[in-house]
Order: sequence, then structure tokens, then C-alpha cells
Amino acid sequence: MKIFKFGGASVKDAEGVKNVVTVLNKTNESELVVVISAMGKMTNALEEVVTHYFGDASDLEAAISNVYEYHHNIVSELFSQPSHEVFSVVKDLVSEMKTFLKTTKSKHHAYVYDQVVGFGELLSTNIVSAYLSETGIKNTFLDVRTCIKTDANYRDARVDWETTQQKIKEHVGLKQITVTQGFLGAEDTNNFTTTLGREGSDYTAAIFGYCLDAESVTIWKDVPGVLNADPRYFSKTQLLNHISYREAIELAFYGASVIHPKTLQPLQRKEIPLFVKSFLDPLAPGTCVGKGVTLDPATSCFILKKNQTLISLSSLDFSFMMEDNISEVFQLFHTFKMKVELIQNSAISFSVCIDNKFNNLEALLAKLRENFRVQWNEGVTIYTVRHSKPSEIKALTKDKKVLLKQESRETVQLVIME
Ligand code: ADP
Ligand code: ASP
Ligand code: MG
Repeated sequence: MKIFKFGGASVKDAEGVKNVVTVLNKTNESELVVVISAMGKMTNALEEVVTHYFGDASDLEAAISNVYEYHHNIVSELFSQPSHEVFSVVKDLVSEMKTFLKTTKSKHHAYVYDQVVGFGELLSTNIVSAYLSETGIKNTFLDVRTCIKTDANYRDARVDWETTQQKIKEHVGLKQITVTQGFLGAEDTNNFTTTLGREGSDYTAAIFGYCLDAESVTIWKDVPGVLNADPRYFSKTQLLNHISYREAIELAFYGASVIHPKTLQPLQRKEIPLFVKSFLDPLAPGTCVGKGVTLDPATSCFILKKNQTLISLSSLDFSFMMEDNISEVFQLFHTFKMKVELIQNSAISFSVCIDNKFNNLEALLAKLRENFRVQWNEGVTIYTVRHSKPSEIKALTKDKKVLLKQESRETVQLVIME
């Protein structure tokens, strides 16, 4: 059994869906789980639907139409007969979403978010599964919510591994191709849709890999594999042929967004190799994450996380920043769902770089000001360099304003105001 995962970029249009067929034909696997994300930027488009639902309702209809038209256009390009049932499947899913929005009484944002955003994956998998069948690739459609069971922590649900493993073993047939959704799960009480966190489909692939003791997991990307730097920001990059689990976990954790950080841990536990490959060149070797050498080739790796917030706190009365007030600060980060990326402290001050993913900065600052003197910078970038040479750090920081620097044996981190 192998697991393949196709992300948004690989199924962003009809060409992309056709290319999935090409990849499956070229790789020619007969025992496969194919995990698919929402098409292109459809998760963002569905987030817009949620925003309009809670905000300016006059644009809600247009936001929903945008989602419908996008999928309808792809289906129209893929299927020549207008009577094909996939047309009504797409229509019905969008109607189901509308009905949900009309009838729900809930004001719980994260719950509504998951029920709505989940339609992206349901639409994409229905379309891809139908197209595979159309081109002669026999496959079984699986609603992942029957398998991946989670808690009710909407937007960042935690997997109940025991039940999930049992359900996956029950529902995934051997010696066949199964097509299913990434990113989604269901909580166990009412079976409401949950999501595993943005970009979580890589993680879904790892969950299936782990539960089925897969031979390997392959995530198909628009890059040749894991590179030593994000190609959107660095012009000269190098393909990494092999990375150890430990190194890959570090790179993903620091923000190498080509692999979702949660993906590696389940695979590492069973030593299942993870391949990162180009969907445009499916037979090229790409990157293998697995047992063995840390990095091949041994080179420096550059990672950046944009749009971070640096907060510096000091006590109002020059008293020390100690465990008691620092723990209070951490409790606030937890309450306001701020992800802590980097910490530095001195006797009377404490600096922390956080990811304000859920737009809670104002509320957090108001709370912090009650007990601390607070300074902050929004829109800063964290650069992380692994295995760096001093000359590289010098070149990187040339003409840039470095707000904070931290150095350990293998990692240099810089908070930079661009
Ligand atoms: P998908 O959602 O389609 O699965 P992503 O867009 O999440 O794929 O991941 C692929 C993207 O990750 C690439 O297009 C690239 O811009 C970005 N990326 C960031 N860091 C790296 C890296 N070190 N190596 C390769 N790609 C990277
Ligand atoms: N569609 C989801 C997102 O865009 C999950 C994923 O693509 O991995 O976040
Ligand atoms: Mg993605």
C-alpha cells in the first residue's frame, strides 16, 4: 500500500486534474490511497464565504457563486456530456452548504468555519474521483469523515488515533485505489466536520500511511522536492536528495512550508519514507525523507516566516521577569491562540515572536498592558538558517534591520524588519 497526496496547486484547474491521471498512469500503482486537497485557492475562497456570513451578508451570495463557478468551469472542461452526474454532485454540494448557512443557529465561528470550508475537499475529491473513473482508472470514493475521528477543537482538531486506525482498517479496501479528502475529520459525538489546521492534507496522508503501515507516502508538489530555501524568496536553490526525519521535522517546524510540520512524526514512528516529488516530473526521484544521513547534499538551509509579530515585555516596576509572570504571559498566548515561534529573555524583559493566525493581537495587547510595559512590531520576518556559515548570515542581514538574533549549534534565527 502506498499513499499519494495531491495538494491545491496540483488540482488548480482542468489541466491539473488531467495531470493526476498522467501521474497515476506513469507510477502505475494498484494499491493506493489518494488524498486530495481543495482545488487551487478554494480554501481561501471558502474562508471568504465564512467572513461574509458573519459580516457583510450582502456579499455572501457572490462569495458562494465564486466557489460554484470555479468548480463548474473545471467540470465543464473535463466532462463533455452535460448530463454527467458530476455536474449535479457539484451543484448539490454547494446547495448543501447554502442550506447549512441558512439554517444553522450557531454563532460559534470555528464550528461554522469547519462546516463550510470542508466543502472544498468534498468538491475536489468528487470531481477527481469521477474523472479518474471516466478515464478508466477504477477507484473507490471514501468520505474521510467516516475514518478520521477527532476532538471538537474546530480549525485545529486533534486526531483520536485509536478509533481512526480502527476505522481506516475497516473502510480502506486493499488492492484498490481509494480517493479521499485531505484536511478533514469528524468529531465523534455528532459527526460534525472538523479540520486539522490549514495546509493539513499532508498530515492526512501521514495518518493513512501510519494506520495502514504503508510502504511509503508521496506528496506531489509544484517544486522538484524539498529545496534548501524557499524558491519564492531565494533565487538560487538546491534540491535536497535525502533528509533525515529529525532534520525534516526541524525544517518544517521552522516554516519550510513544503511539508506540513505534523506530517513527519507519525511516519518517523514507523520509519515510513516520505517522498516529496514534482507532479510535473513524476518519475524524477525528488526528495526522500527517511532514515539515514541528516542532509544530502550537506548544505545550509534557509527558511522564512513572514508576517510575524515581535512583542517585548518588561515589568512595570523593574522587577524580574520570572517563572510566575512568564507563565501568566504564556497562559494569555494560549487563550488568544497565538503560536509562539521564538523566545528571548533578560532580567527585566521578555521578547517573543508570535504568529497572530487568528487575529487576536489587539485583545492580547490590551490584556498584557494591564501588567507589563509592552512594545511590539507587526509584519516582521523570522529567518531561520540551519547549518549556516558566518558569511551567509552576513550576506543575509546586509542592509536589513535585525531586531533580534538567536544562535544555537545548528540554527541561527533572526527577526528582521523588512
Ligand atoms: P500544496 O498545498 O499544493 O500541497 P504547498 O503550496 O503547500 O503545496 O507547498 C509547495 C510550495 O512550498 C512550493 O511552491 C514553494 O513555494 C513552497 N516552499 C517553501 N519552502 C520550500 C522548500 N524549502 N522547498 C520547496 N518548496 C518550498
Ligand atoms: N485545503 C486546505 C488548505 O488550503 C488543506 C491543504 O491544502 O492542505 O489549507
Ligand atoms: Mg497547500
